[in-house]
Amino acid sequence: MGRNNKPKGFQRNNDDDEPMDIIRLRDGIKTTVIKNGVEFYVQTTSGNNAEESKKWICPFCSLSFGTGISHIVAWESAYGPEKRRHFHDQCWKKFQGRLF
Ligand SMILES: [Zn+2]
Repeated sequence: MGRNNKPKGFQRNNDDDEPMDIIRLRDGIKTTVIKNGVEFYVQTTSGNNAEESKKWICPFCSLSFGTGISHIVAWESAYGPEKRRHFHDQCWKKFQGRLF
C-alpha cells in the first residue's frame, strides 16, 4: 500500500533548534538591563549548577542564601562576569543604581 504518497514540501522540520532552547532554559537567559543609567548583564539561575556549599550575599538585602535558590546574577557591562553579584529575584527588581 502506498504509505509514502504525502506530497513533498509538506514535511515539517521538527528538530529546528530545540536542543538549544533546552540549554537556554537550564542555564538561564542572559539579558541586558539598564538601571539608573548603568547597563547590567543579567542572568537568571536555578542555583543548581554551583558547588553544594556555596553561599552568596544579596547586595540589596545583605541576607545570604545558598544553592538551589532560583536567583538573579548581574554584573555591570563595563566590568565583567568576575564582578557578578547574586540577588534574590525580588531584590533585583527593587535594586536601582550602582553595585560597586
Ligand atoms: Zn535580597
